[in-house]
Amino acid sequence: MSKADTKPLNEIIKKRNLTLRDLYFKINKEIGLARLSDIRVAREIITDREIKILDKYLDLTEQEIEELEDMKINKILIENSDKINNLLSLVPKDLKSGEFIITRCPNCDAKLKIAKSSMNGHLWIICQKEGVLLCQ
Ligand SMILES: [Zn+2]
Repeated sequence: MSKADTKPLNEIIKKRNLTLRDLYFKINKEIGLARLSDIRVAREIITDREIKILDKYLDLTEQEIEELEDMKINKILIENSDKINNLLSLVPKDLKSGEFIITRCPNCDAKLKIAKSSMNGHLWIICQKEGVLLCQ
């Protein structure tokens, strides 16, 4: 992953020889300075509205807009893989085909069923509230 993928706002500022404060005033303070700083270091994910604001004042290239939008996608992917790892950590190592356990859902605390199919050995994780969370 290149730097531009993870900190696109930082790249945009550098390319235009701006400091964070310069950017803040250039965009008429439409995004708070602390918020800009968080987005620059990728601690916060930029919103569609904020991308529009930056585009209005900085005339972003297609690629820059794409990189900013990728911040959101990266975050979703990371969150999802965290969630899946979380769920998989609940599966007993010795769970055999045809067996299941009942536990608590890490997302919502409802009843959670973890089952291994006796037919094909597929693993099912089903939350009583949210439905099928994982099938593999
Ligand atoms: Zn749940």
